[in-house]
Amino acid sequence: MIKGSCLCGKVAFEISGKPYSLSYCHCSRCRKAAGVFSAVLVGKGSDLRITQGEDAIARLTPGPDWKFERCFCKDCGTSLGDLETGDIYVVAASALDDDPGIRPSAHIHTASKPAWYEIDDDLKKFEGDYIPDPQD
Ligand SMILES: [Zn+2]
Ligand SMILES: [Zn+2]
Repeated sequence: MIKGSCLCGKVAFEISGKPYSLSYCHCSRCRKAAGVFSAVLVGKGSDLRITQGEDAIARLTPGPDWKFERCFCKDCGTSLGDLETGDIYVVAASALDDDPGIRPSAHIHTASKPAWYEIDDDLKKFEGDYIPDPQD
């Protein structure tokens, strides 16, 4: 079980099963919500469970161009990712308390990164969205 929580501790969640991927997302929404970029953990939607603080979660509904909700703790502002469980979950890896067992494999939405931030590693880069196939 991979556990996660917000800074103030009101919201807690857990993930069963192996995540599909861990990526660095450079989209403008991650930049504004989380810092210069966000480490996003993606996996099977039904593997994610909110264990505490459902009523402390604020949800920013995506505009027409985006598919994921943005969840935050109402009290401490911690960026939690998209905790709605559709086919996949997209969780902010910064909120994890445990090692998810996988390592970052790619940078995504690099077309949206700020000009002042240089990526200086050899991970794969995708200008837009990319969700690896679980079989990869
Ligand atoms: Zn909180
Ligand atoms: Zn993003």
